[in-house]
Amino acid sequence: MPTAQPPLLRIAIIGGGPGGLGSAIALSALPNVSVTLYEQASELREIGAGIRIGLNCWTVLGLLGVGDGVEGVAGHVKDRVLHRNGLSGELLKESRPGGGGLERRFWPRRVRRTRLQGALVGRVREGVGEGVIRLGRRLVRMEKVVDGGVRLWFEDGGEEVADLVVGGDGIRSVVREHVFPDHSIKFTGTTIFRTLIPASSVSHIPGMTPDTTWWHGPTGHMYSSLVDDPAEVEPAEQMFEIAARNVCDPATVTGKRFSWGVPATKERVEGFFTDFDPRVRETLATVPEGNWREFSAFAGPRLEKLVAWEGRVVLIGDASHPLSGAFGSGAAFALEDGWILARAIEYARGDLGVALDIFDEIRSPYYSRMYQHLDQIKANTQAAKEANPNQSFEESLQARVNAFGGEDQLSWIYGNDIAGVWKKWVEGKTGNGVK
Ligand SMILES: Cc1cc2nc3c(=O)[nH]c(=O)nc-3n(C[C@H](O)[C@H](O)[C@H](O)COP(=O)(O)OP(=O)(O)OC[C@H]3O[C@@H](n4cnc5c(N)ncnc54)[C@H](O)[C@@H]3O)c2cc1C
Repeated sequence: MPTAQPPLLRIAIIGGGPGGLGSAIALSALPNVSVTLYEQASELREIGAGIRIGLNCWTVLGLLGVGDGVEGVAGHVKDRVLHRNGLSGELLKESRPGGGGLERRFWPRRVRRTRLQGALVGRVREGVGEGVIRLGRRLVRMEKVVDGGVRLWFEDGGEEVADLVVGGDGIRSVVREHVFPDHSIKFTGTTIFRTLIPASSVSHIPGMTPDTTWWHGPTGHMYSSLVDDPAEVEPAEQMFEIAARNVCDPATVTGKRFSWGVPATKERVEGFFTDFDPRVRETLATVPEGNWREFSAFAGPRLEKLVAWEGRVVLIGDASHPLSGAFGSGAAFALEDGWILARAIEYARGDLGVALDIFDEIRSPYYSRMYQHLDQIKANTQAAKEANPNQSFEESLQARVNAFGGEDQLSWIYGNDIAGVWKKWVEGKTGNGVK
């Protein structure tokens, strides 16, 4: 007698950021699944400026078949990172994030966000299919279905039912609000203004190098970097990223919850940097009116669990660890989540309860370690302040920059080999290893 085919596993991914797109690629490679990605935006357009891509990200991109992990995404190789006193311009620290025997193509880079997104979308469309991504579909409500699955309601009035919901809807996750209603995020007090401008518009400013540079001030900093590889992009086409960050009075933050990618005026941004080094002020002055976008950083406590509703809902990426980009590696985390989720479902042979427990067992402790690390930094900073309450700005800045561990000191993040993590987990369970 022919064996009955198990029913198709219906997976709904909410959100078309790196997490949602990476999950769509990884999950649709599994047998007997039907994957649909719902994105609220009417077109997949990345806002923001540059993004850091390092070894952890190259590794997972390779596993997802996005180029060889590097092709098509190339940006500015971070040969040198400079830390300056933003007020006086004094150079405080210079580090070399590459090296360590790593092949140069896997060194950390600053990349245009659109490039990463373009590579992921391209892979979804060519490897998974055009119809997988449903644009203009904003999730507004979800509910458990009595005999299994989750019903989803969208702003356009449409409804869908899925066996598994993957919440990849970012830091303000609607999925998280439904499954963990007691969890909330708060404005951290920090606002980030971001833009991309032609590199040629700052090349005349002495000392404004293509290197990734931090200009630290008392309540904020300006971060700047080239985001293109001069070996691939003509000088006239090369872009330069600026992220100007400052602690802001909540009253000046437009619409609090929604000031994410909203335009900011030149006057507003430049107003925070009037006492900075002239090179910083001149750089900010070159940004055309209308180019700045404002992002209010929100963060929330760690979630005890990343899975909910008895194996029907899983949170990935920023939705699962609202840290507001604390490690500058959130795209890699989101992509790793999607890849591990696929491995867990494959290993559990479609038993979602088991699969999500595996996912949680692997990813929860990883995020927990990040929260602990940040708590430790906060405690150290506080202790240093209490030990020397009369510290000058220069002294506290030097201490801050010295404590700025650098990527080599967080190899469990920046060097994370997600395939190795999975292999180790399987070996721990079976003692056999996995091929
Ligand atoms: C200032 C700043 C700098 C950063 N720098 C870096 C960096 O250098 N390197 C790095 O790796 N990371 C960086 N990050 C973090 C990185 O941007 C995020 O971690 C990453 O984008 C998370 O991906 P995600 O897919 O989880 O969420 P997102 O990228 O936020 O994507 C979520 C998607 O869900 C959609 N969505 C939301 N709600 C709904 C809904 N209800 N229905 C349907 N769709 C919905 C959104 O439109 C969006 O497309 C930075 C973050 C910040 C704030």
